[in-house]
Amino acid sequence: MKSLTLPSGHEMPLLGLGTWQLTGIKCREAVKQALALGYRHIDTAWVYDNHEEVGKAIKESKLSRDKLFITSKVWRDNLHYNDVLVQCTQALKQLKTDYLDLYLIHWPNKNIPMQETFEALHELLQQGKILNIGVSNFTIAHLENALKLSKKIAVNQVEFHPYLNQEELLNYCTKNKIKLTAYSPLGRGQILSDKTLTALAKAHNKSPAQVCLRWLIQKGLIVIPKASSSHHLKTNMEIFDFKLSAKETKAIDSIGIKRRFVNPGFNEFDELLS
Ligand code: NAP
Repeated sequence: MKSLTLPSGHEMPLLGLGTWQLTGIKCREAVKQALALGYRHIDTAWVYDNHEEVGKAIKESKLSRDKLFITSKVWRDNLHYNDVLVQCTQALKQLKTDYLDLYLIHWPNKNIPMQETFEALHELLQQGKILNIGVSNFTIAHLENALKLSKKIAVNQVEFHPYLNQEELLNYCTKNKIKLTAYSPLGRGQILSDKTLTALAKAHNKSPAQVCLRWLIQKGLIVIPKASSSHHLKTNMEIFDFKLSAKETKAIDSIGIKRRFVNPGFNEFDELLS
């Protein structure tokens, strides 16, 4: 599995399995199958309510912990200092692991001072309970504040796909040595009949989903598609054996649609977007 090196020196696999809306036995089976196929990076969160199942699947895989990259996220209501520590301890217990490879602030929350959240994350780093810290759903304005409080932000996880090409955020993150992870990289499965994507898929004898993932990887992003069917799990891995040309990349860049599929009422996108 190809990876990139985070500023801490840890390797982060470029492809991970997303687990939002995967719960119970379906989650356990999908994670088990993914690990058997060669996935080594699992993305979960406290709010997904599936830590226990992810933990069981990992245990059953018999893979040694140091071969895996596990990301979880602290929920936006729990960003006070003590709440962060408590939620992380719970996550570790549920996942049956001593540490998380990456712990993210799931969504910014303007009602809780970011400073205490980062103090807690730094404490967790110090204790070895997490190896890297990051954020999610942070705009450039959020990052500008956050970077004043922490020099340790390794990753920002945001919605990014051919219908939400966040070039400006990508450039800002690259300049500030923050890696971007693309969530909903397949537009939640709702962009796969796009005519540019289907034409490129045909030209490469690949699927539109593989074209989306390849486009993101070539831009330097990490991708975490969610899949539950065996076919999707398997084919989403087959993205390292072809290349989009500059012209093809440009064709996707130019689709020109800006559509968010994840836009909860508490989002802070608009008010802070520059
Ligand atoms: P997604 O990965 O863009 O799309 C998932 C959907 O696409 C599922 O319905 C899946 O179906 C289908 N699919 C998967 N592979 C396919 C393929 N090769 N061909 C056709 N359809 C395919 O959507 P997502 O779950 O929203 O995002 C991925 C992960 O990002 C989440 O699971 C979560 O871990 C993370 N995320 C994070 C945040 C955040 O706030 N940080 C927000 C949203 C998501 P099957 O299940 O039937 O295979």
